[in-house]
Amino acid sequence: MTANSNPRVYLDYNATAVVRPEAAAAVAHALEVGGNPSSVHAAGRAARALVEQARTDVAALIAAPTSTIVFTSGGTEANALALESAIAAGSKRLLISAIEHDSVRETAQASGLAVEAIPVDRSGRVDLTWLSERLARWDAADGKPFVALMLANNETGVIQPVAEAAELVRAADGWLHVDAVQAAGKIAVDSRALGADTLSISAHKIGGPQGVGALTFGPRAVLSRRQHGGGQERGRRGGTENVSGINGFGAAATAARETLEQPVDVEGKAAWRDAAAARLKSAGAVVVGEAAPRLPNTLCVAAPGFAADTQVMALDLAGVMVSAGAACSSGKVKVSPVLAAMGLGDLAGCGIRVSGGWKSTEADWNRFVDAWFEAYRRHTARHAPAAAGAA
Ligand code: PLP
Repeated sequence: MTANSNPRVYLDYNATAVVRPEAAAAVAHALEVGGNPSSVHAAGRAARALVEQARTDVAALIAAPTSTIVFTSGGTEANALALESAIAAGSKRLLISAIEHDSVRETAQASGLAVEAIPVDRSGRVDLTWLSERLARWDAADGKPFVALMLANNETGVIQPVAEAAELVRAADGWLHVDAVQAAGKIAVDSRALGADTLSISAHKIGGPQGVGALTFGPRAVLSRRQHGGGQERGRRGGTENVSGINGFGAAATAARETLEQPVDVEGKAAWRDAAAARLKSAGAVVVGEAAPRLPNTLCVAAPGFAADTQVMALDLAGVMVSAGAACSSGKVKVSPVLAAMGLGDLAGCGIRVSGGWKSTEADWNRFVDAWFEAYRRHTARHAPAAAGAA
């Protein structure tokens, strides 16, 4: 079959979503408008208007006050801004969930401060009892407790009990940072109701352009500037704004919010994911995090003895794009620290992530399942010829 009659299937939205047409149009529009938002003349004012409209639209996606949105170069910088602000505010010991994204974990480690991992259970949910006990014996010499807990995990889609964690952190007068990069646009996110002191999101995970993100902060958080220069972003982040990226971000946020307001759409997509999962389970595959609430678009699945990188390559040859572990580390081919933290043992090297999005169809999920079974059949034929027919 030619590539044209059987086009490629993209099921790697958690790595980067397919750009929404509204976002692409908004990027192009901002480039045409031109102007520096700091300029007082007409072109500058036009650019400023785009940035401020996008700020309103991005704020609406996460129910945050518009004035608390700081645009950044992406989720990574937003996470770093939160961590480094907490450190500047006096945190000397950082509690980071064991499944945080590298941008949180490595920023914490690079700080040179003591870092402790908050464990997760086998379903991938953070251990709140551990957190509560750890905060109860907090040493005042360690300053303000800092806790990082993502809202939804990028590999498993498992949704974390953030509001419950926030209560514990608030009672300990600490700072809770929530990486909502994967959750935003996939489930309703209310940054204030969650109790986050800081919360990060990224445009390219919701159908906007890459290289732009945002941090929102609550009344208890004081942001410190990590990028000096002009007084942009109310002095919180120097540097001329990425106007086209920000305008695309705003358009994607609006489109994502409107999609979320149609629950049938979200539920329908989860049903395709679950139907695919059921078929893979019939071959002995394990759905990672199945016992926990998960993002509707994400399937993390592991088949014993079937290495993740082999699966990803076989699926790619069949025209189906998924990833092994976190996208940022796929290509490096290493065992997923997230799955390892969940105690999956050898299975941790066998987990692939399949993630759909706004443009995905039921046929895409079916193509994935068919291609997976074909790859699995060849794998079992190679490794256990007697069992080859079973798949
Ligand atoms: N946080 C999570 C949970 C992510 O999945 C990612 C990207 O994969 C990031 C942060 C980083 O975001 P960005 O790519 O915008 O820097």
